[in-house]
Amino acid sequence: MPDTSELTNFRRSVRDFVLTQLPDDIRDSIRRGQQLSRERTIAWHEILAANAYLVPHWPREWGGQGWSVSQQLAFDEEMCVHDAPELNSVTFDMIGPVLVRYGSDAQRTRFLPAIASGRQWWCQGYSEPNAGSDLASLATRAERRGDHYVVSGSKIWTSYAQYADWMFCLVRTDAQTKPQEGISFLLVDMKSPGITVRPIVGIHGWVVFNEVFLDSVEVPVANLVGEENRGWGIAKSLLEFERLKLARVGENKRRRARARAVALERVLGGRRIADEPWFRTRFAELDMRLAALEANAGRFIARAQAGETIGAEVSMLKLRGSQLIQLWEELIVDALGEDALPLDPVVLDGGCTAQGLDAITGTASSRRFLSRGYTIAGGSSEIQHNILAKQVLGL
Ligand SMILES: Cc1cc2nc3c(=O)[nH]c(=O)nc-3n(C[C@H](O)[C@H](O)[C@H](O)COP(=O)(O)OP(=O)(O)OC[C@H]3O[C@@H](n4cnc5c(N)ncnc54)[C@H](O)[C@@H]3O)c2cc1C
Repeated sequence: MPDTSELTNFRRSVRDFVLTQLPDDIRDSIRRGQQLSRERTIAWHEILAANAYLVPHWPREWGGQGWSVSQQLAFDEEMCVHDAPELNSVTFDMIGPVLVRYGSDAQRTRFLPAIASGRQWWCQGYSEPNAGSDLASLATRAERRGDHYVVSGSKIWTSYAQYADWMFCLVRTDAQTKPQEGISFLLVDMKSPGITVRPIVGIHGWVVFNEVFLDSVEVPVANLVGEENRGWGIAKSLLEFERLKLARVGENKRRRARARAVALERVLGGRRIADEPWFRTRFAELDMRLAALEANAGRFIARAQAGETIGAEVSMLKLRGSQLIQLWEELIVDALGEDALPLDPVVLDGGCTAQGLDAITGTASSRRFLSRGYTIAGGSSEIQHNILAKQVLGL
């Protein structure tokens, strides 16, 4: 969907904002592929909140701006292309809107202002060691005792649980019925006795993931969202809009720009990589895929904007967008050649002076290349293929 002049102006104002307000040290860290601390991330949240840019997609009543779907996606794209940190979608896109829609008045009043201030951090406790793609088989139990649930079990791959103040969690409250019908949606204070967070260091060196163990954790019944045993419907309602965002057009554009910059800068055997036929062919192919992704995303955005349901076809955006990111990163790594190798903490900490920007780009690219998370998180590529085959093609 091409930008209207109104949307073009909107984009320009977002671009001006990110170019002038994003602190240089945070921008540099993102370019270098460094992990931001909780404190620096919250500092950025506060800048966004002060400019009404943190939860603009929420209803006005709760601090939002009532932005359209096109505005939200244009905003995300400009932020991404200009190296702003990716916002914690679990906090701002998932639990906030869930509480707006399904939360009790008391839950909304308690949590939404804290989230909108940028200072409260949430994590998502869905996956378990034996329940990932097959989420409905989750086994963490919650037994009701008076005005509390007692929760025991374990979650895994819980992104940024080490920073989180709260976790929204799927738990089994009835083991006698069909798997989807015995699940409830609970809000768990991460400071509760009985919670242990064990970080998992990824192949890229970052600590994103955690295991979260719950050992007889007491959770007030007041922290149940919606009705008991009706949590699956809430969990699923998060997914459609999520897949629209998971086209990740902005992230793809950021990587395209990086591939172009590396190829223009690198010279091998007296020739710029950008002039090499192999590079040009692959770049052109990926560029066409990106144009197709953006055009398709535009179709879905127009439908969402018109209030139509998006449907299972949206899985194609998640599938293509996540695969394309990895193909761009592969091209960058190939263009960098041996300079893509270092995964050296000294380089990461800015201690490397050799080749300046190249070393930084190389390090950042190796890390991104090694991480295959985009094609797994939010439903793996195989699961997207299944959805498209069964629900769209009727196979
Ligand atoms: C970057 C990242 C962040 C994440 N953050 C969170 C988080 O914050 N909170 C959270 O709860 N979870 C999180 N996850 C976990 C994520 O939801 C799961 O990894 C995902 O659902 C897959 O589950 P699994 O890892 O158990 O793999 P499995 O489901 O065991 O799958 C293993 C392999 O089998 C394939 N497979 C499985 N079932 C089928 C099938 N029916 N047909 C064909 N192939 C199949 C899969 O595609 C995969 O290749 C995150 C994951 C990643 C990568």
